Amino acid sequence: MTWLVGALLAAAVLAIVALPFLRRRNLPKESPDAVEALEAQRQAIYREAQVLYNDWTVGQVTDQEYQERLRAHRIRAALLLREEEQMLEIEERLEEEVLALRGNTPLDVAAGDDHECPNCSQLLAEGVSECPACGAKVTESARG
Ligand SMILES: [Zn+2]
Repeated sequence: MTWLVGALLAAAVLAIVALPFLRRRNLPKESPDAVEALEAQRQAIYREAQVLYNDWTVGQVTDQEYQERLRAHRIRAALLLREEEQMLEIEERLEEEVLALRGNTPLDVAAGDDHECPNCSQLLAEGVSECPACGAKVTESARG
């Protein structure tokens, strides 16, 4: 009977730890280092929980110790998960802000390639036929 309880607890912990990995597939792959670090920590908990379960099934860990440690793992995993989700929320908000900024910034300001001396790159007034800086002939066909 305690065996069944222990197995259920282990399954619960593994579900908590593993679930976000499955969900993460929908999110963009490039997550920041901080989130990756949290994921690594959670993977470590996952492995620890597996080891603990194995130890317990072979009788190296008492029922009480097993359940206490399992509870500790579960709490750690839940805390990590919450932290991770907060980070992802912040990340999403930043992304939205960056996109908003991009949308409002007129990036396509006309490049001033229309009236420039082909010889010395002096900016020329419209309609001049000769560069005032270097004296080069400026023709209409010199554009582009
Ligand atoms: Zn010139």
